[in-house]
Amino acid sequence: MARRISIFGATGSIGQNTIDLIARARDDYDVVALTGAGNIAQLAQDATDLNAQVAVTAHDHLLEDLRLALSGTGIDAAAGEQAIKEAAGRPVDWAMSAIIGAAGLAPGVEILKQGATLALANKESLVCAGKLILETAAANDAHILPVDSEHSAIFQALIGEDIDAVERIIITASGGAFRDWPLDQLADATLAQASSHPNWDMGQRITIDSASMFNKAMEVIETREYFGIAPEKIEVLIHPQSMIHALVGFNDGALMAHIGPSDMRHAIGFALHHPHRRSLPVERLDLAKIGNFEFRAPDDVRWPALRLARDVMARGGMSGAVFNAAKEIALDGFIDGRLQFPQMAEVVEEVLDGLIMDTGLIDATMTLDNVAQVDHLARQTAKAVIKKRAG
Ligand code: NDP
Ligand code: MG
Repeated sequence: MARRISIFGATGSIGQNTIDLIARARDDYDVVALTGAGNIAQLAQDATDLNAQVAVTAHDHLLEDLRLALSGTGIDAAAGEQAIKEAAGRPVDWAMSAIIGAAGLAPGVEILKQGATLALANKESLVCAGKLILETAAANDAHILPVDSEHSAIFQALIGEDIDAVERIIITASGGAFRDWPLDQLADATLAQASSHPNWDMGQRITIDSASMFNKAMEVIETREYFGIAPEKIEVLIHPQSMIHALVGFNDGALMAHIGPSDMRHAIGFALHHPHRRSLPVERLDLAKIGNFEFRAPDDVRWPALRLARDVMARGGMSGAVFNAAKEIALDGFIDGRLQFPQMAEVVEEVLDGLIMDTGLIDATMTLDNVAQVDHLARQTAKAVIKKRAG
């Protein structure tokens, strides 16, 4: 029987890689919902090719365009945040959560509520609301499979292992675009320079987050939340080749490393076929040709985001939602030219300093509404910090 699946964020980098895998085994899947935002042509094309039940854009004002692009296909068109949530309520067996940003949280929760398997690429869900996501999964007997490559690697290294025997988890980082830049030149880094990744081909926002290491900072928090591992047991290691994605260290001294090509279709395919392994259209590494793997320790001066992640984990509660929201606004500020590259971390730190000791805010019960409130306040605060700096 065909598996019913939906893809949230279908038009993005992860979404398109997911569709690539689905399209190769078309008859195995019944596509229920595909969602996107601005890229209506792609959304309509994929919905038509995959014969989806419904296509949803996040943007209300693009509903007519979507309807037009789907006319004659019999595929439902819908728009807006609420419509995405409703699409997540349509019964499926498996769904990909690949919307970018905090907007991915609510549809993910909806998928879990129906007891389906959630392939989770949207790292913001775990950073902003890890406890809520995991509790919703447990309460509804739903599974979450990590898609972020490092977390998929850890998950794979842990198969058949005892989590209590884990001494440490090491996640690797390429170091991004500015790994070897002189520190005093970072203030002059341009958007184009920050948007080009040495190894991975990803969406623009996560590529810039890789250069600033905010991406890795998010992934450290994600590791803490998903695997329930103590913050002091999580290490970051610079590995410029991006082929070892993560390592798990056990109490007998063994280190289990996951090695694979820098192709997200591996982690997506693993989550799609779990608990089985199926052949995937990814490169097979020729280690003799590669020759060497390099490693070095990360540096908190070049990448203050890593230090901030530790502050967030020490604080707990909803401080992850503050961190993510401030980071998203600071990133907007860099993209539209109001902030220099190193100022992103300064803004995030200022917002964290201002908000995370507010116990009424940070330690309130973690509900979708409360996370949204924290997110909103942190965004407002970050905007005010940026404005103050400009003025
Ligand atoms: P992209 O920017 O390429 O794609 C984002 C997707 O979300 C698109 O479908 C976009 O629509 C849609 N979208 C944008 N804004 C909204 C909104 N407000 N509401 C609903 N949908 C929206 O991102 P990526 O694919 O790179 O990343 C997706 C997620 O996966 C992120 O959380 C990222 O951190 C994570 N991830 C990505 C990796 C990668 O290799 N790219 C690796 C590991 C994790 P449209 O394009 O139509 O505007
Ligand atoms: Mg990753």
